Amino acid sequence: MEIACLDLEGVLIPEIWIAFAEKTGIDALRATTRDIPDYDVLMKQRLSILDQHGLGLNEIQEVIATLEPLPGAREFTDWLRERFQVVILSDTFYEFSQPLMRQLGFPTLLCHKLDVDENGKVVDYKLRQANPKRQAVVALKSIYYRVIAAGDSYNDTTMLAEADAGILFHAPDNVIREFPQFPAVHTYEDLKKAFIDASNRDLEL
Ligand SMILES: [Mg+2]
Repeated sequence: MEIACLDLEGVLIPEIWIAFAEKTGIDALRATTRDIPDYDVLMKQRLSILDQHGLGLNEIQEVIATLEPLPGAREFTDWLRERFQVVILSDTFYEFSQPLMRQLGFPTLLCHKLDVDENGKVVDYKLRQANPKRQAVVALKSIYYRVIAAGDSYNDTTMLAEADAGILFHAPDNVIREFPQFPAVHTYEDLKKAFIDASNRDLEL
């Protein structure tokens, strides 16, 4: 039995915080783990910026609802789900991803959760667990699934390494250079082929 694990941001949808910063014009929200490596510090900063701008969950979701999946992402997801059970493993939050997941037909998503108070203010967040992507692959392997995983960035590499087969998609050059053990592709057509190549089964495009 085979299962496909996909990263979300950068693979099927744009980077939510960056797209959100562009839509709202709040430049300070463009910071990522590349600028502030401590995720906890980064998230606290993001939540305080949202609060300063009076953005609660409703306003945030309204903005995110105007975003769209990457061109071709829905078709690719549908193609993949006809051939594999698909689980999306992401470091986003359910509440943020909801409007974009709707446009993808709500495939299974394992990610994190926000704490929202009765006025809609985002007061805190809860990470599902440490090293969540890799741990999800470990768990799926423990119930005897063969795992094929694809992702675009550093936070995916432990997932790709733990999987039976790992694929880099849309990855920047430095990640491709640092992880030459993973095939690297840049279009959904090539990603389909990479899944077919990685599969034990006789699949076709
Ligand atoms: Mg990503």
